[in-house]
Amino acid sequence: MSLTNTDISHWLERSAQVMHEQNAYLTQLDAAIGDADHGANMDRGFQAVTGKIAAMPDADISTLLKTVGTTLVSTVGGASGPLYGTAFLRAGMAAANKQELESADLVALFTAMLEGIKARGKAQAGEKTMIDALTPAIEAGQQAQSENADLSQLLQSMTSAAEEGMKKTVPMLATKGRASYLGERSIGHQDPGATSSWLLIKALSDTVSPTHS
Ligand code: ADP
Ligand code: MG
Repeated sequence: MSLTNTDISHWLERSAQVMHEQNAYLTQLDAAIGDADHGANMDRGFQAVTGKIAAMPDADISTLLKTVGTTLVSTVGGASGPLYGTAFLRAGMAAANKQELESADLVALFTAMLEGIKARGKAQAGEKTMIDALTPAIEAGQQAQSENADLSQLLQSMTSAAEEGMKKTVPMLATKGRASYLGERSIGHQDPGATSSWLLIKALSDTVSPTHS
């Protein structure tokens, strides 16, 4: 099994739907340790993405992902716009000339996204950011790949690991981004960006195996 440009379009559409549904939840998380705009940022960004990709039905995977990147950079303010924007631009580069994505391509794609976020935000694992959901997800993807799991199993493992990583941000002290201004008071709250990263991976997993959603 592999993912085509149609699957990627479906993922992006589903992501937009999920960000819209979870707008209030992400806002509530960001209200606790930030400025209460992460839900609005992700919702606005992904609504713009669906508008763009609806107009390009024949675009290849790389073009779709790069379009997400440029759209997020131009429509989402705050930290998450440039971070996710860079991530999707890197994903687009990782998918260059590929008509389909196999498991290994998918793990490489998420690795490129993570590297983009790290380069842009100068953060590492353990600082209470989206990196703390993406890092374990990629490790789980690599593990699943080494066990020859099929694509849908691989994505389910990545989703579970991202969710666990997201939950592990609760006791962390934020040392990057707006939440770091709170110092010790950032402890005890789940990171909004780690939550949206989990939602994005889950949206892809649910696109591939809707019965498990
Ligand atoms: P802002 O913080 O500017 O209001 P958002 O609320 O949209 O932007 O996004 C906040 C999220 O961005 C945080 O929850 C965190 O996961 C992520 N983030 C912030 N700074 C960084 C960074 N330097 N590296 C990685 N992720 C970061
Ligand atoms: Mg915010």
